Amino acid sequence: MNPFEYGDGGLYAEEVPLSRIAEDVGTPCYVYSRGRIEENWKVYNDAFGDYPHRICYAVKANGTLAILGILAGLGSGFDIVSGGELRRVEMAGGALSTVVFSGVGKTRSEVAAAIASGVACIDVESPDEIDRVSEAAVYLQRTAPIAVRVNPDVDPDTHPYIATGLKSSKFGIGIDRVIDTYRYAAGKPGIEIAGVACHIGSQLMDTEPLLDAFNRLLDLVDTLQGLGINIRHVDAGGGLGIGYGRVPGPDRTVWIKTMVETMGRRMQQLPIIIEPGRSIVGDAGVLLTRVEYLKTNGSKRFAVVDAGMNDLLRPALYGARHDIITVKQSTDAGQRYDVVGPVCESADVLGTALLPSLELGDLIAVKEAGAYGSAMASNYNARLRPAEVVVDGGRFHLVRQRETFENLVALEALALGETATQ
Ligand SMILES: *Cc1c(COP(=O)(O)O)cnc(C)c1O
Repeated sequence: MNPFEYGDGGLYAEEVPLSRIAEDVGTPCYVYSRGRIEENWKVYNDAFGDYPHRICYAVKANGTLAILGILAGLGSGFDIVSGGELRRVEMAGGALSTVVFSGVGKTRSEVAAAIASGVACIDVESPDEIDRVSEAAVYLQRTAPIAVRVNPDVDPDTHPYIATGLKSSKFGIGIDRVIDTYRYAAGKPGIEIAGVACHIGSQLMDTEPLLDAFNRLLDLVDTLQGLGINIRHVDAGGGLGIGYGRVPGPDRTVWIKTMVETMGRRMQQLPIIIEPGRSIVGDAGVLLTRVEYLKTNGSKRFAVVDAGMNDLLRPALYGARHDIITVKQSTDAGQRYDVVGPVCESADVLGTALLPSLELGDLIAVKEAGAYGSAMASNYNARLRPAEVVVDGGRFHLVRQRETFENLVALEALALGETATQ
């Protein structure tokens, strides 16, 4: 299924013309395909077959409640990185017993909330965090299941901002220290060793570093079992890349089958957890925006649109590239445009694209914007965060209203007078 295809009247999302959505909810807005989200999840699930597994969708890729609800409906687990994400999962109807809690800086109250909710596993990233988890578990008279997030020191060959498995990264515990860390955790009250975990980075276009890391995790499992520390699952993290209009990302089915085969070859049958984010929602969403102005400066032709880096930060933050297409279908050979937003930063460029001759008011779709799009949106320049829509066959649902100015200023004091504290 390709959910975004041209039909009568231009580009569609499933069976709904994007022009109709723009008319109804305005622009900029994110539009997601329910069918595509479900299909992406099922590719992973089917690849595992009967092998024991859990797919824990990484909420940070897109935590919009309706999207979490779609995944909860499939029986997905969730990977979270904050107490706020825990509450989102709960609100969307996700089972908290399927939640894996990752992240390098969990606060005391976040740790306590996770333990009280009965999450499946807390992936700890430092000895100090083990102390914190132990204290909270003892206080709550509960047992906290943990895995140590291992930093396997493999180079995932991706953008440095999204590489997390190198020795010099802030994430995880170095592979040389990890046995001691498990020993330390095993001696702590309130803690139960559940698994081993890693996540080496995002937008990985090759599974070799992932497999390398997976094998290192299995080496660790062997060692731990030899020490009498029982391991019940292996969490391989997320990170599989998507095409963004270039070469497609790694084959997900092949990757899952490779892990299952590797388990077998190493005489292990431990349940596997994966934490995909981008590869579930990335290609299921577009950012729909309208041309406000056209101009040329020097040799460059600019299309100024009503979405900016505050709506979709990836190009400005990582130099990420997204395919950009018009909603109108045209055979016009086209010309090159720099598609830029209204934000007062030179980095506010959504991308460059060969587009049919544009007119004011034309609609443009920034493709594969479903992951790390709305989730990273901000109010920079006092801009209101965009609306979000889920298309389901021939119907569409407004799942997040466009922010209002009142939302924007709701938490602010008007003047200094009444808010002074000693
Ligand atoms: C971000 C993240 C993921 C998801 O990564 P994707 O590249 O979106 O698949 C999974 N696990 C952890 C711990 C993460 O921080």
